This record gives sequence, structure tokens and C-alpha cells, in this order.
Amino acid sequence: MHDGSSLLDQVNQSFAKAAAFTDHEPDLLAQIECCNAVYRMSFPLQRDDGTIEVIQAWRAEHSHHKLPTKGGIRYSPDVSEDDVMALAALMTYKCAIVDVPFGGAKGGIKIDRSRYSDHELERITRRYTSELVRKGFIGPGVDVPAPDYGSSSREMSWIADTYIAMAGGDVDALACVTGKPVAQGGIRGRTEATGRGVFYGLRAVCSYADDMKALGLQEGLRGKTAVIQGLGNVGYYAALFLEEGGVVIIAIAEYDGAIVNPAGLNVADVAEHRVKTGSILGFPGAEDLQPSIRALELDCDILIPAALENQITSENVTRIRAKIVAEAANAPTTPEASRALGEAGTLIIPDAYLNAGGVTVSYFEWLKNLSHVRFGRLEKRFEEVSNRKILDLMEGTTGVSIPDKDREQVRGPGEEDLVNSGLEETMIVAYREIHEIHRRLDGKADLRVAALVSAIDKIAVTYENMGIFP
Ligand code: NAD
Repeated sequence: MHDGSSLLDQVNQSFAKAAAFTDHEPDLLAQIECCNAVYRMSFPLQRDDGTIEVIQAWRAEHSHHKLPTKGGIRYSPDVSEDDVMALAALMTYKCAIVDVPFGGAKGGIKIDRSRYSDHELERITRRYTSELVRKGFIGPGVDVPAPDYGSSSREMSWIADTYIAMAGGDVDALACVTGKPVAQGGIRGRTEATGRGVFYGLRAVCSYADDMKALGLQEGLRGKTAVIQGLGNVGYYAALFLEEGGVVIIAIAEYDGAIVNPAGLNVADVAEHRVKTGSILGFPGAEDLQPSIRALELDCDILIPAALENQITSENVTRIRAKIVAEAANAPTTPEASRALGEAGTLIIPDAYLNAGGVTVSYFEWLKNLSHVRFGRLEKRFEEVSNRKILDLMEGTTGVSIPDKDREQVRGPGEEDLVNSGLEETMIVAYREIHEIHRRLDGKADLRVAALVSAIDKIAVTYENMGIFP
């Protein structure tokens, strides 16, 4: 709870705001907004010392307008049924925004994972999966979980293994979960996907010269300054790709403090320093800043919260000086803070769009599992040979020889090339759609509302095509 409202209240408020800009019937909007199914379970865990503990867990499937449903499983002592329902709704909207043909879902297991041994975590995960199987809440065409806060590819491999054991020879069983290790049906490029998507999204936003001019900025990413909060999976890769794209990363904030260097931080070196010393603090050439949250108030072009929810609130919003707030984390800005930033002329790139790279590449993993072949396996060599033949032909007709080092650049696409290219296309097209709605609403709605209008319109089409609603 921050600024007085729960996550579910926040999601519902945002939905109501966006729904008001559509012309769909109230009954249809009510169907889109409501959570279709929630499975609340309690099961016993035998601890390593022989004692029994009751574990509480949930799986919420927010929208069955498209199947399967999709969403991560959160392992956290703070997770609640309301949170899981709110996060499942966000997944529905996120999938629709980036044209991933899934409904939204989310799981929650109410545990502090640091209190359990690896064996206990495995037993919890496998029992949770069996409960989902028993009630028909998991399956390649039903509901496909993924990692979320507190879970990783290891938990996904336990889920896949349990499901396969119970699936009675279903040849598609591996597609029951995504975010798996590559050796167990996972996909190359998934680890970097959300951070890479943040980079593609920001690049798309900054390519609109008029929008940038309105903020007093130049078109493009090159030369812009950025502050990143959270050097985890999303923050690290977003920072790395942005740096490669010419953005100057002037500060990085972690839970134990921030580091600042107006001339720019080398992101890979900062990560290496953290591995060596256990902290980003004390990085050579940078100044330490305490408390960490003050980094959000630094003067910069782009502020990227990539750690936790509720980081920009009514308490600190008036001190935020960034011209663009790029929501790489889920729900880092409270609705009150969002409103205040909008009034101050700050451009907020909403989470439901900006961090959708993860679910996009999860979709690619699901497709790979169902097609039973690695992307690029059939065409890689064929394309390479065809392209080399074109070069030979060019040499033959022009008489100009192409140096070997240039020839070596010509190769067919591997799995990671295709995944990255599909992700890039997805982020560019989705932003074009959001931008068009934003333009049509003529300044009456921000990008968050425009993104949700885009989602509501797409979901409405599915229901309308079913003939249920006029
Ligand atoms: P992560 O655990 O890998 O990284 C989070 C980082 O934030 C860690 O380095 C942690 O030390 C740091 N951190 C924690 N508290 C902090 C604080 N108070 N100040 C500064 N830093 C702090 O998590 P992640 O996977 O990178 O996820 C980050 C956010 O992105 C979450 O909101 C998550 O829901 C969202 N998200 C993640 C993905 C994904 O694919 N991983 C996809 C969509 C959205």
C-alpha cells in the first residue's frame, strides 16, 4: 500500500480511466475488467526437520478471451490474493499491447524463500504444480506460468518436469511453462529480453522529434543522460544496451546506496565491481550517494526505475527532475505521482508497454516448444549460402572484390538473432499504435491511458467476434 491504495485499486483505477476514452458497452468493459478464475490452495510441506507447515498459494487467470493464459509465479511472504489478481490483470493488458495472443494470469506462493532449503523449495514448487494440474490450471493450451519475483529458471525446470511426469506422454508438454533453462527447452535471448525491450521501447519513444522537442530534447537516444534504479536482470541489461546506444548513464542506484558520475558510468565495469566487492558503492571515479532513493531526484533526461513498485510517490514526486520516466519495473509510480508528473510535463513511458519484452520472448519460447525445432535451424545455412552467392554475383558483375572480413559478416540468422529481431519489431509496432491513440486523444490522456485503450480495444474485438457482445 502506498499513497493510500492497493495494487488492485491502482489497476482498477487505471482501467476505469482508460475505459472512459473508449466507446464499448459497460457490460463488455465489465467482462474485460473482471478476473475470470482464481484458484486458492493450501497444502502441507514436510520440512527437512520432519515438521509440517501449511503453505498458502494462488493462481489467478484474469482473462480467458485468449488461451492459454500467461504470467509469472511470485514467491514472496507479502503476496496476497488481491495482488495476484491485480498482476494477472496487468498481464492481460500487457499481452494485448504487444500482440502476444494470451490472456493474463499470475501465481503467488506465500513464502520467504530464504527460510527454506533447496529441497524444501523443490517440494513446494512440485506440489504447487500438481495442484495446478489437478484443477486444470496449467497446460500448454490452458495456462503457462513463468518466473517472477523470487523464482527463476530452476523453479521453471521443476514445474516442467512435474507437469511432464503427469501429462501422460503429451508431446507438447514442455510448452506448459516458459523461462526454462535453454538445455530444457528454454530460448536464447530470454535472460536479456526485458532489458533489451526497454532499450527498443525508449529508442522508439525518442525517435519522435516533435515529442522530444516538446520536452526540450533532441531526437534520438545518443547523448541523453540516464539514471537507473536497480542493477538486477532488467536494470543491468537495459543500462548495458542504452550505453551501447550512446546514452550516458550518470547514476546507478541499488538498495544499499547509489553511485554518480556525470561523465558516465561503464555498466559492465560497475557489475564486475559489485561481483568483486559485494556492492556498487566505492566504484572508482564515481561518488557514493546516500540514501539510494535520492538518485531518483538527480537532474537527467531519462529516469529508469527498474527495481520495485511504488518508488515515485507523492512524497518525492515534486523533486523528480527527469524529463522522461521510463517504467522498466512494474508499477514504480503511484497514480498520484503519475498525475503530478503529467501536470509537470514529464513524459511517463508506462510499464505495461516498456517491460513487455519478457513476455514477448516467453511467447517465442512457447512457439519453439510447440514447433519442436530451434528457430533458425532450417534456414540459417541456406540463407548464408544464398547471401554469399549474391556477393559472388556482385563481384562478378562489378569487378570489385569484397574483402574477406566483410564476407565474414554475411551469415544466416541463429535463434538469438531471430528472437532479438522479433522483439525489436514488437516494441516498435506497439509504440506506433500507442502513439497513434495518444495523438488521436489530443492531449486528453497520457501514454499510460493510451496503452490501456490500445489493450481494451484489442480485447473487445475478440469478444465482439465471439458474438457475445454487440
Ligand atoms: P531483480 O531481482 O533481478 O533485480 C532487482 C534489483 O533491484 C536488484 O539488483 C536489487 O538489489 C535492486 N533493488 C532492490 N531494492 C532496491 C532499492 N530499494 N533501491 C534500488 N535498488 C533496489 O529483478 P528484475 O527481474 O530485474 O525485476 C525488476 C522489476 O522489473 C520488477 O518490478 C519486476 O516485476 C519487473 N519485471 C521484470 C521482468 C523480467 O523479465 N525479469 C519482466 C517484466 C517486469
